[in-house]
Parts: sequence; C-alpha cells; structure tokens
Amino acid sequence: MAEVIYGSEIAAEIKAELKIQMDALKQENARLPRLVVILVGAHPASLSYVSGKEKACAAIGMENELVKLGEDTTQEELLTLIQKYNEDEAVDGILVQLPLPKHINEAEILYAIAPDKDVDGFHPYNIGRMMMGSPTYLPCTPKGIMEVLRRITSVDLSGKHAVVIGRSNIVGKPIAQLLLQANATVTITHSKTAQIQSITKQADILIVAVGQPRMVTQDWIKPGAIVIDVGVNRDEQNRLCGDVDFDAVKDKAAYITPVPKGIGPMTIAMLLKNTYDAYLVHRKRK
Ligand code: NDP
Repeated sequence: MAEVIYGSEIAAEIKAELKIQMDALKQENARLPRLVVILVGAHPASLSYVSGKEKACAAIGMENELVKLGEDTTQEELLTLIQKYNEDEAVDGILVQLPLPKHINEAEILYAIAPDKDVDGFHPYNIGRMMMGSPTYLPCTPKGIMEVLRRITSVDLSGKHAVVIGRSNIVGKPIAQLLLQANATVTITHSKTAQIQSITKQADILIVAVGQPRMVTQDWIKPGAIVIDVGVNRDEQNRLCGDVDFDAVKDKAAYITPVPKGIGPMTIAMLLKNTYDAYLVHRKRK
C-alpha cells in the first residue's frame, strides 16, 4: 500500500515560510513582492487557475494584480501591456495565463516578458539556463514535482530510472531535464511511443502529465514505484481526477500523489517562491 504524498501539505509549509518573509518586510515598511497576472478572455479553467493564484498571494500577504482583458485583445495591445509591466520597478513577476486566444501568437508573448520577471519560467532565456543547469526561474510544475521528490527523504534519484509520460514544454520536457540533472536515467514517452507500458513498468519514478482521466492503471506500474500524477481532468461524473487510476495504483506503488491535493497546490507555491526570488534579485539591484 503506497504512502500518499499530499502536495497540499508541503505547499502549505512553503507558503507559511513565505508568509513569515512577507510579515518581516511589512515590519520593515519595505516594498512588497508584486505579481501581475494577465488573463485574456474568460476560459473557465483559466478563471479558476488565476483565482487560485490571487487567493494564494492574498493568503501570504504578497501583492497581486489581476489584469482581465477581453477575448478580442490584439497582439499589439498585449505586447504594450507587458512592456509597461516590464518597465515598472514595483512589479517583480509577470504571468500571462495560458492558453491564449488563437489569434495571439503565444511564443511572441512569452518572449516579450522580461526574463527577470518571468516567474512562470517559460522564457527561452530561462529555459536555456535550466538546460545548462544554471540558476534560473524554473517552470512551476516541474519545480514543484522536484520539491515533492526531495521531501520523500529516503529516495536518492541518482541512478534511478525515471519515466515521464508527456512531452509538453510546460511539464514533460522540463521535468525530464530536472530529473536528468538529479542523475536519474530518464525516458520520455508520448502519444506515439510504441509499447508504452513495457517502458513505464521499468520506472522507479513515473511522472504522468498527459490529460487523460485515469489512463495509467496497475498494469503500467512497477511494484514499489514512485508515481507522480500531474493530470487535472474531469471524469464522466464531472469529478476532478488525475491521469492515474489512484485507487488501483496505490496498492502497487510505494508513493503516490493524489488529485486533487497533489501537484496542483505545489505549482502555485512555486509561483509564489519564484516571485519572491525575483523580488530579492530586484531589491539587490537597487
Ligand atoms: P499537453 O496536452 O500539452 O501534453 C500532453 C502530453 O501527453 C503530450 O506530450 C502527448 O503526446 C501526451 N499524450 C497524450 N495522450 C497520450 C497517450 N495516450 N499516451 C502517452 N502520451 C500521451 O498537456 P500538459 O503537459 O500541459 O498537461 C498535462 C496534464 O497536466 C493536463 O491534465 C493538465 O491539465 C495537467 N497540468 C497540471 C498542472 C498542475 O499544476 N497540476 C500544471 C500543468 C498541467 P504528444 O506530444 O505525442 O501529443
């Protein structure tokens, strides 16, 4: 029977640590870290994500500005707004909520955010630094997964076989890179991978970031594996669920993260952490 790793509990610890920092800054009457979140359109999942970020900032006393723009916002308007926040010395982090409407070129928008304010870690400069193993803002979900793995204290990733299902720029590719840097032997799988279960069954650590409700069943798992479920889906009954069949897999794995209360809260905690780190960089420059 697996030990269930609640990311929500780890995230609460991290947020409590950050709140202490915010309280100390208030005592000093110092400027507080400020995160600007830009939402274009009213995608229901995006509305819920940005509201989660707003609440998390409020809970620790970090400043947050939510900019809601209409679905018909143009590329130029969005670029002008980003430039304004790039130049604003009171702003430490800028996050443009994805996905963007189809008429907007997502890559051009992500490139426009100043790398030192790119708290989502999606700018090519920061991705390049991550690839080189240089200090940088890491993308929040992979960073949160690594923090969860670090807290499973008996596990040394060195020499372990880590299998990642999914190769998105947001989760699959960066988590594979971070696992590699931690000396794991990494295999990346995706929708075109042949005999995928024969690969996942070899995984000491299995990271699942696909977006298919309960796709990974017991047959995919090596006994004693660490299973990290990144997926956030709705099942036929409209209940939140992950990409892993939690009830079946928990009997075979050694550790498993649930959905909800798993990686989702870690992602938000890492966004706050990145924003605080950006603040420290900006403060030092003055
Ligand atoms: P993407 O849709 O960008 O990528 C999904 C990946 O899964 C692709 O690489 C795709 O392969 C692969 N895939 C799809 N079907 C299969 C299959 N049958 N077998 C093997 N691989 C498959 O998704 P994201 O990476 O952005 O997100 C993945 C999941 O994680 C989603 O549920 C999302 O909501 C969730 N998520 C959760 C976060 C959190 O904070 N908890 C943060 C970000 C995402 P191919 O490349 O070949 O198409």
